[in-house]
Amino acid sequence: MSTARRALVTGGAGFIGSHLVDRLVSDGYSVCVLDDLSTGSASNVASGVRFQRIDICDWPSLRDVVAAFKPDTVFHAAAQTDVGRSIREPDYDARVNVLGGLNVLRAAHAAGARRVVYASSAAVYGPPERLPVPETHPTRPISDYGSSKLALEHYLNAYQARGLIEYAALRFANVYGPRQRSDGEGGVVAIFTDRMRAGKAVTIFGDGTKTRDYIYVGDVVDATIRAASGGGPTGIVANLGWGRQVSDLELFREVAAATGYSGEPAFAPDRPGDIAHSCLDPALARRTWDWKPTVALRDGVRRVVEWSAR
Ligand code: NAD
Repeated sequence: MSTARRALVTGGAGFIGSHLVDRLVSDGYSVCVLDDLSTGSASNVASGVRFQRIDICDWPSLRDVVAAFKPDTVFHAAAQTDVGRSIREPDYDARVNVLGGLNVLRAAHAAGARRVVYASSAAVYGPPERLPVPETHPTRPISDYGSSKLALEHYLNAYQARGLIEYAALRFANVYGPRQRSDGEGGVVAIFTDRMRAGKAVTIFGDGTKTRDYIYVGDVVDATIRAASGGGPTGIVANLGWGRQVSDLELFREVAAATGYSGEPAFAPDRPGDIAHSCLDPALARRTWDWKPTVALRDGVRRVVEWSAR
């Protein structure tokens, strides 16, 4: 029997999940991807990787596939990720992110998996009371998405408290990189890149001074793998961000420089609910897993632009 470590990745056909799959394969894991392709694409999944098109809300299918694969580690990245949709269709958001997530935990436990690593989000904090935001900051999400992502953290904790599973929950800042779609609301680097490469006008909501914490997908994947390693601490809930505030205007200038765009931004009124400043303190991840981000914004943006020009 093969002794390769066995990793199951939900959402492995999506942006972050597919980069994680690539890294797991190159690290020698045996990998199984579960994805319903609602926002992901089968073309993101490396050839040779086992792929099952399954909705995590479909309990019997999910249970059977996870039981047959017998993963040591489950990386749970499948989610409804659109904040606007979560507010328009809260029942759908809760079905995928809470009930679907709970199915993943039950299936992981039933199959004897040791650890679940969960892709959580900075959205669990709500408007920051101080910056950068540490994990001890209150969790008061203002979107249904933030609420559903937080709910699953609590389920993970309950499963661990009952000795059913080990876990790490990683609260991602704004992740960017190749394969991110430009038709969503959150992929600002992808949106700016596509519009600038096409010579189109680029809109900034607000006056350009709003800030976000951008973290390159490869850095997120690196931390995620470290959080999965056997013998490591369990029950850790940790931020994954760069810890630096990048304004919309700074990002505009970086992408313009990388694409050779000479236009100026068009400014539009702030969208309701937009948070003015956001930035995560990554100190706990550094202490726990000896992790730190390595890809600076300029290099990461250049990689996205090169990828989109391929
Ligand atoms: P994505 O949309 O590219 O990936 C999500 C994947 O989940 C897609 O492939 C989609 O098809 C799949 N999926 C959705 N619903 C499913 C269902 N019911 N059953 C099976 N598969 C389903 O988004 P992403 O940016 O790669 O996000 C991955 C994870 O990271 C998500 O859990 C998200 O909440 C979290 N996250 C992302 C960011 C970011 O900046 N991109 C920030 C914070 C947290």
